[in-house]
Order: sequence, then C-alpha cells, then structure tokens
Amino acid sequence: MSDRAQNSMDGRCGARTRAGGHCRRWPMTNGRCRFHGGCSTGPRTAEGLARIRAARTIHGAYSAEAVGLRRVVAELKRQTAKLAEIV
Ligand SMILES: [Zn+2]
Repeated sequence: MSDRAQNSMDGRCGARTRAGGHCRRWPMTNGRCRFHGGCSTGPRTAEGLARIRAARTIHGAYSAEAVGLRRVVAELKRQTAKLAEIV
C-alpha cells in the first residue's frame, strides 16, 4: 500500500498509524505532520552549534583545550623532576 499517494489523502501527512490507516494531519514543510516529522537533524548554523555547546558545557575541565594544557604541565613536571635528579 503506497501510503503517501492516496487521492483522498492528497496533501496530508500519510504516515502509517498503529490502527492500520494513514495519518490525516496536515503536514509541515518536510511533508509529515508535527507528530511524524522524524528526529531532529541537528544544528544548521555555526551559531546554533555554538549555542548547543554553550548549553551543554558545565565547567570545561574535560575540553580538549583543558586536557591538552594538563598534559603539557605534567610533562614539564616530569622534565623538572629529571633535571632535579641530575643536579
Ligand atoms: Zn502524521
């Protein structure tokens, strides 16, 4: 059964329902209604991505930048300890 192309359903969402019929709601621009539009496709703009990052970042202690900085500091500490042994 072609669920998108029934004459009486023209222009409607047409998603298959659990009752065995087709959804008769009016669709959004993506062709499905607000209940059957599918998952989010993620941020569309760099600004949107930045907004999500800011919202999800609590303290940034595990960011690549912070982890890299701790790595550098640890390496410097190791080298300092080695130098102290030699002197
Ligand atoms: Zn629908």
